[in-house]
Amino acid sequence: MESQPHVALISSPGMGHLFPSLELATRLSMRHHLSVTVFIVPSRSSSAEYKVIAAAQAAGLFTVIELPPADMSDVTDSTVVGRLSITMRRHVPALRSAVSALTSLPSVLIADIFATESFAVADEFHMAKYVFVASNAWFFALTIYVPVLDKQINGQYVDQKEPFHIPGCEPVRPCDVMDPLLDRTEPQYFEYVRIGTEIPSSDGVLVNTWDDLEGRTLASFRDWNLLGRIMKSPVYSIGPIVRQTGGKKGGASELFNWLSKQPGESVIYVSFGSGGTLSSEQMTEVAHGLEMSGQRFVWVVRAPKVRSDATFFTTGDGTEDQSEAKFLPDGFLERTSEVGFVVSMWADQTAVLGSPAVGGFFTHGGWNSALEGITNGVPMVVWPLYAEQRMNATMLAEEVRVAVRPKELPTKAVIGREEIAAMVRKIMAEEDEEGKAIRAKAKELQRSAEKSTAEGGSSFENFARVVKLWRENRV
Ligand code: UDP
Repeated sequence: MESQPHVALISSPGMGHLFPSLELATRLSMRHHLSVTVFIVPSRSSSAEYKVIAAAQAAGLFTVIELPPADMSDVTDSTVVGRLSITMRRHVPALRSAVSALTSLPSVLIADIFATESFAVADEFHMAKYVFVASNAWFFALTIYVPVLDKQINGQYVDQKEPFHIPGCEPVRPCDVMDPLLDRTEPQYFEYVRIGTEIPSSDGVLVNTWDDLEGRTLASFRDWNLLGRIMKSPVYSIGPIVRQTGGKKGGASELFNWLSKQPGESVIYVSFGSGGTLSSEQMTEVAHGLEMSGQRFVWVVRAPKVRSDATFFTTGDGTEDQSEAKFLPDGFLERTSEVGFVVSMWADQTAVLGSPAVGGFFTHGGWNSALEGITNGVPMVVWPLYAEQRMNATMLAEEVRVAVRPKELPTKAVIGREEIAAMVRKIMAEEDEEGKAIRAKAKELQRSAEKSTAEGGSSFENFARVVKLWRENRV
């Protein structure tokens, strides 16, 4: 006997987690007509985040409940995964109260990877437990394999001489491991091992990828001799789940007016995600590199930091006093005024990438950004800054071949202007043969992504399969 399930999601702070969770909720509600409640733990430092939450509430497709803030005043850990883990742990009591206050109890709880401790609440209320991995299957494979590596490896991961062999997957180079594995003595490393241990206790995992892109890795989860031994419950590839542009152009009409006057596929869009920041020296090199490349560009500029990485919990939307001119080389804005458009802090990225004028994407390689690049068929320069982005860059540049990446990472402090100009020219300039192949591959991958989520495609079918289980109360 089928019933209409009520599904709850819990999203950890940060645009890279919030956007895909809201998009997943949208699909569950619009495509599969489920009743959906999204519990949000905002970072409370980003005006862009507030706007996104308010827009989701106003759209009314599903219920959005902001959990009240937990006291973090005693927390000194400043690492991203350390803070996220503590934040989510301290919100478990608020989640429990919010769930018990609902008039209709959800039968499924979908948590992002930093919210697996909320499974305690799912157990109390007899809900099925699912994990939504808003990244790729290769990253997810390493995540659940970390508890094994933890027992096998002596010393630091980054000091190992050989790549890490994950059953059935591409090996991972020591220099490519995600941030929490960079230093085994930090609390965030232990949090990560815990996360890797907890995920397999779920009833299933939804991954933002698709079969054509990561068939081999996905097959490993189904094979008892490979990762299936660790991940016994099913892994559903349901991606790419990306925000729809929907023709909305936000408030930045000046930018879209400018874009509408540029020739087709002539502009490279430069942005380092919701939290990426560059050092002052690095920003100067990017400016000169863009200028030297001779290509048209749109660049989302943020105030420089001491070093290039992430200010994960402190991003805004351009209303802050950023006055980008003061961070950029003298005369840069004047010299590039005909070919470049600099945006302060935040741009409506999916709308920019959807513009016919945009033909390339210079990105930090956050998985949402990577998918937004892929679904718009643009070749990429991927310059990883933090989180799992080194793996993403390796996959996109070396395996999938829709991108180029800087040669030396992450040890080299600054990437020089010549290398930046060369990477930009490679994907944008007509004459480059390797660039031509990358551009062709980007279009091919766009088609493959479209096919996977269209009716009858692998992700479409996987999504329908898991929803059917929920409807039939079979989990
Ligand atoms: N984003 C945006 N405008 C910006 C910067 C980021 O709309 O100026 C969006 C971007 O489209 C993506 C998300 O923020 O959906 C960032 O997620 P991603 O996984 O790429 O990187 P993260 O910010 O989590 O490192």
